[in-house]
Amino acid sequence: MNTTVVELIGVDKEYGGHRALTDISLTITDGEFLSLLGPSGCGKTTLLRLIGGFEECTRGKLLLDGRSVAQVPPEKRAVNTVFQNYALFPHMNVFDNVAFGLRMAKKPADEINHSVARALELVQLVGMERRRPSALSGGQQQRVAIARAIVNKPRVLLLDEPLSALDHRLRKQMQKELKQLQRTLGITFVLVTHDQDEAFAMSDRVVVMQNGRIEQIGSPMAIYEEPVNLYVARFVGDINVLDGVIREQTAPSTFRALVEGVTVSLRSKRPLELGQPIHVLLRPEDFRLELEKDIAESKDLSDKFQQARLKGTVRRIFYHGATYDVEVTLESGRRVQVTEFFDEDSENLYFKPGDAVILGWHEGWEVVLPHEQ
Ligand code: ATP
Repeated sequence: MNTTVVELIGVDKEYGGHRALTDISLTITDGEFLSLLGPSGCGKTTLLRLIGGFEECTRGKLLLDGRSVAQVPPEKRAVNTVFQNYALFPHMNVFDNVAFGLRMAKKPADEINHSVARALELVQLVGMERRRPSALSGGQQQRVAIARAIVNKPRVLLLDEPLSALDHRLRKQMQKELKQLQRTLGITFVLVTHDQDEAFAMSDRVVVMQNGRIEQIGSPMAIYEEPVNLYVARFVGDINVLDGVIREQTAPSTFRALVEGVTVSLRSKRPLELGQPIHVLLRPEDFRLELEKDIAESKDLSDKFQQARLKGTVRRIFYHGATYDVEVTLESGRRVQVTEFFDEDSENLYFKPGDAVILGWHEGWEVVLPHEQ
């Protein structure tokens, strides 16, 4: 069974009259990679600072390894933080920066040498021991900050947007390295990021936040495939939101609904009432698009649409390289986006502006949400 390392129970944080976090309950298990994901100002850093001991909870409880840490200062917690600006000592070389904490803890010289050498090896900085931070690239400074944080083997490593200052390519590379490092060390990583790709690429679980509250906690796949509300759905990737109303329940978890003026069959594990207004959510890659004339000519093609058949017209095409997006205006007037892959046998895109098209999807690929108040 997984051991709980960090536990927050009903935590609020207020700054003066301003509520930065509301009713946060979260358990983080030993060895997991967890990301706190949300837009600027949603409270991610505040949550990290509470765990690190740089702030106190206004209400609720924070436990580390099952014990309340309300009175425990940051340096006494088995937690280390990698800050956004790296916070290296500019007058110390790489070795001394990494050794600093161990020297403060009065560890023997042999142990310090060994631990620092191991940490620098893990972050691939062997040979740079004598350099000052000013003689290092951004990526190398980041590695020093990480080495300094892991050198005394914390239970939990907190990372506050650690890759935000790096260019796109280096950022991707560091994402892989950090994930590998976490596996090698086997310690818990908690990463703050506003970047969905980064959170998804690295994490076992993602916590999506908004306005100081947790909206959803789950694996990247669960968050992407089964968002609990429109906010989460929209924050993690492109999504089409169709409007509908429940007409009939045909089986447990299966309903007939009128969606954008067309009768379709939908699946939902939530109880839904007749007449209830709903949102039907579909990712651009979940739609199937066909030319109306192809459907008319061939019976086989119509099998592709197990159910929904929404008519529309192609408005615009957005070319992305391996894929292209087709913007379609439905008969209801709603605009949707469909991702298409290239047909390898054809040099041209299959769809062009003005084409009359039929849009469908396989029953069960949709997410059905009741209208939010
Ligand atoms: P960002 O990605 O921009 O860093 P964030 O999600 O990490 O954003 P926080 O830094 O946790 O957000 O801030 C949450 C809220 O608390 C914001 O409204 C912020 O202005 C407020 N806040 C944070 N620190 C303080 C402070 N020391 N005093 C007063 N208000 C604060």
